[in-house]
Amino acid sequence: MPRRLELLLIADVHYVREAEHVCPIPARHAALGLELLRRVRLRAARGPRLDAVVLMGDLVDNGDAAGAECDLAALAEETAKLGVTTLVVPGNHDGPTERVLRLFGDAPGVHRVAGYQLITFADAYAPDDRAARLPADLHLLAEAAADRPDEPIVALQHSPIHPSIAGEYPYNLTNAGEVMAAYRQAGVRLSLSAHYHPGLAPQPVDGVWYATCPALCEAPWRFIRVSLDGDAVTVREEPLRLTGVSAPLVDHHMHTHYAYCADDVNPTASLQRAEQFGVDRVYFTEHAGQLYLSPEDYWGGLFRRDAACLRRERAAGRDRMGPYRAEMTELRSPRVGLGLEVELDADGELTLLEEDRDDWDFLLGAVHSLRGVSNEGLTASEAARRFMAETERIVGLGLDVLAHPFRIFRRSGREAPAELYEPVAQLLAAHGVAAEVNYHTNEPDPRFFERCLAHGVRIALGTDSHGLWEVGELSPHLELLRQIVSDEDLPRVLYWNAGTPRSQT
Ligand SMILES: [Zn+2]
Ligand SMILES: [Zn+2]
Ligand SMILES: [Zn+2]
Repeated sequence: MPRRLELLLIADVHYVREAEHVCPIPARHAALGLELLRRVRLRAARGPRLDAVVLMGDLVDNGDAAGAECDLAALAEETAKLGVTTLVVPGNHDGPTERVLRLFGDAPGVHRVAGYQLITFADAYAPDDRAARLPADLHLLAEAAADRPDEPIVALQHSPIHPSIAGEYPYNLTNAGEVMAAYRQAGVRLSLSAHYHPGLAPQPVDGVWYATCPALCEAPWRFIRVSLDGDAVTVREEPLRLTGVSAPLVDHHMHTHYAYCADDVNPTASLQRAEQFGVDRVYFTEHAGQLYLSPEDYWGGLFRRDAACLRRERAAGRDRMGPYRAEMTELRSPRVGLGLEVELDADGELTLLEEDRDDWDFLLGAVHSLRGVSNEGLTASEAARRFMAETERIVGLGLDVLAHPFRIFRRSGREAPAELYEPVAQLLAAHGVAAEVNYHTNEPDPRFFERCLAHGVRIALGTDSHGLWEVGELSPHLELLRQIVSDEDLPRVLYWNAGTPRSQT
């Protein structure tokens, strides 16, 4: 008896980076392809168990262009990071079929997964983009059905089989009618296609379900999840863009090119991403310590040993606070606010000079380490005690939001001390400080945020974006909130800053 089958399908990525080719259709965000795939991968890694990922073709926009192989290889490398069985269905844009299959280590035909037969077809496209299913492939299908009647069949191909799509472009296989007859005869449970970018919801014909996966390369960047369980077929579309949230979405934690730990973020591209992925307002919150110090001094933790170092860098004119503030102030708008991520210095004060404190929309305070000791060398109870002392100290210094509470434990390979959830929630409530949900190298515990809500502590959402692929990805944050708060209460519990600089409140 086959068990439940869980598939994730990605279609029509149309990626162009190294290929000597310009995608002629702007709606296809060809340059984003690899990043979109990465976003899907990261979301999939948090989602339910998967039996296989299927790439449904048109991975690149022009597989015949010089350099397209590099682009395909980059997509293959990204997909492999999921660590899940990957099937590939070649599309009409992918160039030589044998090459795309080789790069992904796949072959057309029967793949036996979780008690099902996933049959992929590499239909050959003529230069006018027409394709017909070959008799040999239909024969293979009949054989598979006869050989393993107890293993239901899922058929996968690039071109839609049903319904027939009107218009001049030949979307459907030219012998779709013949294919449908063969699918019915073989008892195919579900037929999945791509190629038609809007996608098509599942429809049954003679006991066979037909669905078409929408294109990933076009907003709102959709992929699909498919579940089969006995006779039940579920096809669920999931956009990367966040929709249907009952509150304005605000990302309270974004880094910039000023961060020494930045990957490829820069404000222009980050703002574009925020818009593309459904975030209404963002705050740039750079590491204040990094704005004062050189990379060597910051990473060496100089400010935790020598509180005067920030002042010295300022006096020597070496700090970057001025340029950061000037550059970011230009961007301030109803959609863009400015903050700083601050820490404790050697004296237990914020890593922020007095004259630099005004005119930020808010301060985000972080406990990135326990001052004076190596966290790793402590017993669990000693680490918990010191963490609480650091948190009490920083929360009392005029913060608005506590960044990634308890992340320090995960970073040092420990479990967060759940016995501190209640006292930290009470502490935040007493000081009117919000708690940040943050998934950047972090796995926050909903039980802590439940305690926060019980004490009326507001919740801020932060991607802590250091790379563009993280910008706007508040989906795990919303998933956490769904576990502890109703949708209608969401606007009430979220920390919201209308953009009034702190000095004016
Ligand atoms: Zn296509
Ligand atoms: Zn950072
Ligand atoms: Zn940060």
